[in-house]
Amino acid sequence: MIIGPNTYFECSVCSKIIVRISVCSVNSMGAKFWTDGHMKAPMWPDFPKLVKCPHCDKCLWIRDLLLVSDGFKKRINLRTLPLCIRELYKTQPWLADDYDDGKPLKHPPRDVSGAMPPNDLSHDEYIKFLKANILDEKREEYIRRRIWRTGNDKRRNGNSSIPLSSDEIINLRLLLDLNSESDTYSYIIRAEIFRELGDFDSALEMVSNIRCKNALDAISHIIDLIKSRDPVVGLAPGILIWKASE
Ligand SMILES: [Zn+2]
Repeated sequence: MIIGPNTYFECSVCSKIIVRISVCSVNSMGAKFWTDGHMKAPMWPDFPKLVKCPHCDKCLWIRDLLLVSDGFKKRINLRTLPLCIRELYKTQPWLADDYDDGKPLKHPPRDVSGAMPPNDLSHDEYIKFLKANILDEKREEYIRRRIWRTGNDKRRNGNSSIPLSSDEIINLRLLLDLNSESDTYSYIIRAEIFRELGDFDSALEMVSNIRCKNALDAISHIIDLIKSRDPVVGLAPGILIWKASE
């Protein structure tokens, strides 16, 4: 993993500065993958898209925040930047001063002293956020996946007998509706959700639709779990990265 410069955002509620590291490259060395798509990897940090402001504790979508400084002080070759930062330049062209022609900046970087990293939401906070906000389908799907995986965290750590809570069951059923397409990703995610809900017949029906040649180890592992009527999230052999959303 190669760490890039810090990026600084302005909280849209309290206007204080939030800082986040950026990464120029990641890799999956030493990574663990779970059947619900969760990945924990020392060289691949998790960057939640919804965070809590460390100053005012409000929930914020990083993508909606004003980027006030990307940590670069002088002219930059855009091609050397991580893709995510290049995208930000495209959406906020006033930052182009930083790399445009090497002339004095029209928009000098903001004072970022006192900047703090954002906080993650807990499982219960994701549920509370979803109940309090009307979201578009993409964002709702993203939050429901976070609710699913943060709920499963307690089972990853050895407490596999903990049953699904009523909130988790409702969340999984709604997540099924949000993944109704006829593509491999949707079939895998629905198969895993049906399995965790204990509906093994529907789970088996879903995997019968999968024609994917990738992630075969992980998929056949999920099929084994379905056949042994095991509803608990488990480690997946091999890489199981699902499509990004939002
Ligand atoms: Zn704030």
